[in-house]
Amino acid sequence: MARKTKRKTKRKLAHPKLPMQRQLNLQHEGTHFDLRPIFERLNERYFRRRLRGYKVTWGRRRKHRPREQFIFGTIQEEDRVIRINPALDQPFVPPWFLRYVLYHEMLHSVVPDKTLPGGRRRVHTEEFSRRERKFPGYLRARRWEEENLARFLR
Ligand SMILES: [Zn+2]
Repeated sequence: MARKTKRKTKRKLAHPKLPMQRQLNLQHEGTHFDLRPIFERLNERYFRRRLRGYKVTWGRRRKHRPREQFIFGTIQEEDRVIRINPALDQPFVPPWFLRYVLYHEMLHSVVPDKTLPGGRRRVHTEEFSRRERKFPGYLRARRWEEENLARFLR
């Protein structure tokens, strides 16, 4: 049972600050999904085009699937790069799920983080969750995530 609780997405670790060296080779076009038009539509519909100068790209492919933790996406605000896990570029992934993943990352750029007592940073604040739940299809996406997470893990 311990294993089951561990096999969850750890969203608080989903936004590491990555070093600059991964700037090269930014690719938004995957085999099944092109991230750019998805980003543009979300930006227009939910953010009044507030996200400017962002690059959106598939992340680097890994040799192995992770064992316990799958990171769907990350955002680096200082460089304005949103990276989506290339494991999502597969035909079994519904487009509406990918939209949700992108929306989640984009939301980070408009909802400020909070610093907790002790200096820890909290990115998924109450305000963040409130706005995230307003995304149409949020519940469907979370359910799909839960039901399909094992396909992304080893
Ligand atoms: Zn997040």
